[in-house]
Amino acid sequence: MNRFMYKKHIPVKRFGQNFLKNEIIIKKIVQSMNLNSFDNVIEIGPGLGALTFPICEIVDKITVLEIDENIIFFLLCHQYNKKMNIILTDVMKFDFRYFFSLKKDVLYRLVGNLPYNISVCFFLKMILYNVHIYDMHFMFQKEVAYRLLANPGSKEYGKLSVIAQFFYRITLITPVDKFNFFPKPKINSVFLRFIPYNKKYDDYSIKQNFFALELITRAAFQHRRKLLKSNLSNMFSEKLLLKLDIHSFFRAENVSVYQYSLLVRNFLESHI
Ligand code: SAM
Repeated sequence: MNRFMYKKHIPVKRFGQNFLKNEIIIKKIVQSMNLNSFDNVIEIGPGLGALTFPICEIVDKITVLEIDENIIFFLLCHQYNKKMNIILTDVMKFDFRYFFSLKKDVLYRLVGNLPYNISVCFFLKMILYNVHIYDMHFMFQKEVAYRLLANPGSKEYGKLSVIAQFFYRITLITPVDKFNFFPKPKINSVFLRFIPYNKKYDDYSIKQNFFALELITRAAFQHRRKLLKSNLSNMFSEKLLLKLDIHSFFRAENVSVYQYSLLVRNFLESHI
């Protein structure tokens, strides 16, 4: 057998194919999701089924979105093929709006050991569909996971932390060492749970909040070492910042997610 082969498949680097191989970790991940048979699960990048097949043992149906045709063929031949709604697609181009419109009032549970090259972009893309999402469980490379979880004042705290924590309650489920994948990546990973703060928003207000927050955090963190009042001088008066307890010596990293949410509210009130 070719030494680069894994379960008769040659991992494709450009698709970020690092397959989970440790059964103990896989079990821990699947158990952490607390799945029910009736759950509507969508898996991003099922690969050779490391998570998919244990999930199939619990749920009645799972939708899997996969870009690699060889993997699609492998899945179609598997004993669980009747449980899987298998879709050949690039998730970055997949029409989630249409997909979610097919079944009204259904909340989906997303899971994925995301390919590193698209993980952040895909995560940000899904925020706009939060009203259709019950929860998401994703594997991120460690450095990205720590940015998602970071607290104000830390060096990891930045635009991504604020946006993620504004929309989700995030829980660290387990660190996953690089030795648990084939082929072994250069970096360790962390598996996280995201629960959307959906009650606060409808579809339209998610979009408004997302774009306002994007604008504000981009300006705020663009020059990290500068004072926030100068980074945001085109958007907010110093008087307003002080009213929100954002002091004149603050930098972007000193401002809490709650304070950013007050800035978003103020921005939307004065622009709409
Ligand atoms: N879930 C499997 C596991 O844990 O072993 C595979 C994870 S592997 C890190 C990422 C998977 O996502 C691969 O199967 C890869 O082909 C697929 N993938 C990569 N880019 C994709 C994209 N843009 N759209 C859909 N699937 C993609």
